[in-house]
Amino acid sequence: MTTTDVHVLLKRHFGYDQFRPGQEEIISNALAGRNSLVVMPTGGGKSLCYQLPALATGGVTLVISPLIALMKDQVDGLRANGIAADFLNSTLDNRTAAEVERGAQAGSVRLLYAAPERVSMPGFRRFLGTLDLRLIAIDEAHCISEWGHDFRPDYRALSELRALFPQTPVMALTATATGRVQQDIVEQLRLDDCRRFVSGFDRPNLTYRVEPGAGAWDALLDLLEERKGQSAIVYCFSRKDTEDLAAKLSSHGHPAVAYHAGLNANTRRLTQERFIDGEVPIVAATIAFGMGIDKPDIRLVVHHTLPKSIEGYYQETGRAGRDGLPSECVLFFNEGDRAKQEYFIQGMTGEARAVAERQLQQMVDYCRLSACRRRYLLQYFGETATAEACGNCDTCLAQRQAVDVTVVAQKLLSAVIRTGERFGFAHVGNVLLGKNLKRIRELEHDKLTVFGIVDDYDRDGLRRVADGLVERGLLAKAEGQYPTVGVTKSGREWLRNHETLTLDLRVDERPPQGRHSKVRQSNGGGTAAPNTGYDDVLFEQLRALRRRLADEEGVPAFVVFGDATLRGLAEAKPVTPEDMLRVSGVGPAKLERYGEAFLAVTRVTKEQTMHPKADHNR
Ligand code: ADP
Ligand code: ZN
Repeated sequence: MTTTDVHVLLKRHFGYDQFRPGQEEIISNALAGRNSLVVMPTGGGKSLCYQLPALATGGVTLVISPLIALMKDQVDGLRANGIAADFLNSTLDNRTAAEVERGAQAGSVRLLYAAPERVSMPGFRRFLGTLDLRLIAIDEAHCISEWGHDFRPDYRALSELRALFPQTPVMALTATATGRVQQDIVEQLRLDDCRRFVSGFDRPNLTYRVEPGAGAWDALLDLLEERKGQSAIVYCFSRKDTEDLAAKLSSHGHPAVAYHAGLNANTRRLTQERFIDGEVPIVAATIAFGMGIDKPDIRLVVHHTLPKSIEGYYQETGRAGRDGLPSECVLFFNEGDRAKQEYFIQGMTGEARAVAERQLQQMVDYCRLSACRRRYLLQYFGETATAEACGNCDTCLAQRQAVDVTVVAQKLLSAVIRTGERFGFAHVGNVLLGKNLKRIRELEHDKLTVFGIVDDYDRDGLRRVADGLVERGLLAKAEGQYPTVGVTKSGREWLRNHETLTLDLRVDERPPQGRHSKVRQSNGGGTAAPNTGYDDVLFEQLRALRRRLADEEGVPAFVVFGDATLRGLAEAKPVTPEDMLRVSGVGPAKLERYGEAFLAVTRVTKEQTMHPKADHNR
């Protein structure tokens, strides 16, 4: 296989012009007959890494995937690209399964998907022995490790595959694996002399935002309004919350359904299918929703409640924008949500409790960050972000203004000192704001001279000033369970010297209406650039056409074309089949199948843009 050959296959079968980072190397490693471990973030393009070799080598590539619900979509997607693929799992009756097996034996199937539990069945093993097996791909490979977050006993059987097919290279793939889990995968699968391909965790097309929980409802409506008809997940605290929110959203013109573990299996499956097919755009869900949602065009993931850990949060937000297009992750943060979580933590004991407390604290720290959120997330996963600021999270996108905070900073530092440097910021803030609270009275902090001396800042504003003082090294936060604040040596010096102090504070905290798009455009530094190149109206027409074709064929909309391809079409406005073939995501198979239908729409728009007058005269 030469490089030109794989490029030809890339265009011919997938319609793409370029490989994503890492893909080409991984593919050539497999084609050279070597084992690989691939760790790539969600949406990085893992599937192509084994799908393309399957076309290049001939024979059969076995794909082990735990998500039975997804197999059909994956196979439909491949077939739409003219690739012979099939699957074997418990949803098939015996006759169909036998047919699929015969097809694989006859060599008329390139990719065969199967669930892991099959591998321990003697009949299935015998069947595999009759195939011309060229590659074994193991998706969600972290499921084999007990150290991972999703251990599945069925995966253990896969360790025998190497013994059964010592000559066949294996490719293990996962989106989440710490070093320990990677090692475990390699050992369990006995992937001797395996090459590891580990790409970073960063998801540059995702915008991260944290917004105050107090205005969540209005802000949520704004967000959904901006993305009308596009797919969104809203994570809620309880089962009841999901139902209440789904009903409320639906009655406000945003069709939504609820999803949680308390619904029966059939309802859950149906809801999932309707969401994947694009029939219902919004799901209000508990964290039970998501595993097995391999939908590329989710544009928005909202956390209406505080997640329990950064891992969980990252995994949930990771479901947005798998197709690489700009997508948004918004977390509404309420101090009160923390108390809800703490209530549950109090019921735990020992190590588990300590872990839960630490995770919650990290999550709260993330919410209160005044520095780049992406940087925090990447550091959490052990990666050092190169840039101070990513340009694509709310703190990086925020407008900042130099504000003279001399007076309020003096008040803050004095209050910290007067209360004995034994309290967290929440208490100090309450004292400064003069809150009538039992705790304050008990401590007699209402008798202090600093009680109630701030009226030009609210609590959030005070917190931002305090964060600024921490960054400047005037205040210090103690580590540990009770993060008390104290005044540093330079803080005391600053107070003595009566110096002025200016901080760059965020000013666009809560501008009304449509702020998201505005903020993005005014900065535009990130990857989530606003739409410039393509025709919005045409895009919507193409979307409607895609919906119709998908319904006719009974497949999810993205099987026809992904959003990225629709945008490409709305930009290029192809007139001839050759024009259309130049758009990324259009290969010969899809051109033949859908070309005429889409060209009929793009041609009309092209003519209108070329002869705009003609339209007015009519
Ligand atoms: P993962 O399994 O890593 O989460 P997928 O394999 O589902 O990611 O790929 C994510 C999306 O990226 C899919 O819509 C896929 O078609 C697209 N994709 C993959 N490789 C390329 C490429 N080389 N060029 C353009 N799009 C690609
Ligand atoms: Zn940032």
